[in-house]
Amino acid sequence: MIEIKNLHKSYKMGSNSLHVLKGINFSVAEGELVSIMGSSGSGKSTLLNILGMLDEADSGTYTLDGLPIKNLNEKIAAQYRNKFLGFIFQSFNLISYKNALDNVALPLYYQGIKHKERVDIAMSYLEKVGLADWAGHLPNELSGGQKQRVAIARALASNPKVLLADEPTGALDTKTSYEVMDLIQGINDEGRTILIVTHEHDIAEMTKRIVNLKDGVIIDDSKVNQVRALSNV
Ligand code: ADP
Ligand code: MG
Repeated sequence: MIEIKNLHKSYKMGSNSLHVLKGINFSVAEGELVSIMGSSGSGKSTLLNILGMLDEADSGTYTLDGLPIKNLNEKIAAQYRNKFLGFIFQSFNLISYKNALDNVALPLYYQGIKHKERVDIAMSYLEKVGLADWAGHLPNELSGGQKQRVAIARALASNPKVLLADEPTGALDTKTSYEVMDLIQGINDEGRTILIVTHEHDIAEMTKRIVNLKDGVIIDDSKVNQVRALSNV
């Protein structure tokens, strides 16, 4: 599903350059639930942003579902992102003046899906995350855990091949974090490929494989015995 080879990325700052990713190699097969672990500043978000086609590497190759991701113009990149990828962020990134249903339906608008169908699809995903009764509520009327559920429904609505989550539990208390991880585990159980960036060990252990990043290189990449989130709630 995802294959990257010898990926490098530096950030230029004036005459200085910060070498953040120093030759990353890894691949992710369909159906995996992988965490990218590492301390703050280790390059996790940089890597995830490249995988999410929000940023480009300086060198190396990236293949997504068999397609080489290189020098795409913004229109094609947007189409690929829409078709292949769903994003979940630490800070939810919901639109504050749109209710839960409209937040989930919005990506479908960009796919040209008609209003009635958008509403039906969005509602079915809100049901899936247990928030059907909250469809008409604005984000500021929802708890943090509910907001992240809405964001997960939104990410799923376009039926992406891969979900990319950058610290999805970073703004949540422990119990709520585990409930969100239970939802993510359930989505993976259905076969969806998911990558999660986290710096928390307990969260990483709820995935099936931990990729450890340190100072821009992978220092460990191991399958783990998945801890079920609900066993911790
Ligand atoms: P992590 O997500 O693991 O905390 P990041 O990938 O966000 O790490 O950042 C890795 C390093 O790159 C950090 O030192 C950070 O300050 C730097 N960095 C991240 N984004 C930029 C940017 N847009 N411009 C310059 N430096 C950046
Ligand atoms: Mg980060």
